[in-house]
Parts: sequence; structure tokens; C-alpha cells
Amino acid sequence: MSTVEQSILAVHVRGLDGMCVGCRLWRARLTPYPCWQVAWETSRQARVSTHGPVLPVWSCGGCGAPWPCATRRRELLAEYEGAPVSLAVYLGAQLVRATADLSWAPAGSLHRRFLGWLR
Ligand SMILES: [Zn+2]
Ligand SMILES: [Zn+2]
Repeated sequence: MSTVEQSILAVHVRGLDGMCVGCRLWRARLTPYPCWQVAWETSRQARVSTHGPVLPVWSCGGCGAPWPCATRRRELLAEYEGAPVSLAVYLGAQLVRATADLSWAPAGSLHRRFLGWLR
């Protein structure tokens, strides 16, 4: 992680009222945490894995299973330990992309595949 990314994640933290502290200080905006800058930085970190999605078919580049495969799910849980909301934001963003790519797939099954294993 570069210093810039670290400083973004250090400033954009959750305030007591659930709003992003960094957005309030820097941009005078009330933004619910995690804001888009946190979501963007955390999703960029999560992209560094051999078990990344092969687009546009969304199979795993590491093992060929439907993405996120069992290995990637374990990695994600470790990467986002203590930040379940950020993980859900990241997976939600991937689900939106996958839904566009896999327009033939039933929406319910994609939702289960990307977000259903979180609980
Ligand atoms: Zn923010
Ligand atoms: Zn895999």
C-alpha cells in the first residue's frame, strides 16, 4: 500500500454519528461511512490476488471455480477482518459489474454467490 492510500484510509474513518470524518473535514460534506474513497481504496487492495475474477465470465483466474471461489472468500474475510461493511460494499460493487456481464444469469443466484455467503 502506498503512503497516499494509507493517508486516505487514515483520514476517512467512521465518526461517532456514522458519517465519514475525512469527507466532513476535507470536503465539508456529510457522507455515510464508508464513503466512495474508502470503498475505492479497499477494493483496489482486494484486487491483488491470484484468485481474481476472469472477465467477462467471472470464473476464478486461480482455480477456475465461479468467482468468488472458496479461496478468494477466505482471503476476503481475512483482508476485511473487522470491516464487514467495507467487504459488503466491495462485493456489492462486484455484483453490479457481474450482473451486467452475466445478463443471462438469474439475479437471485448471482446475489447469493456474491453476498449470500457473508453471514
Ligand atoms: Zn470519506
Ligand atoms: Zn480461486
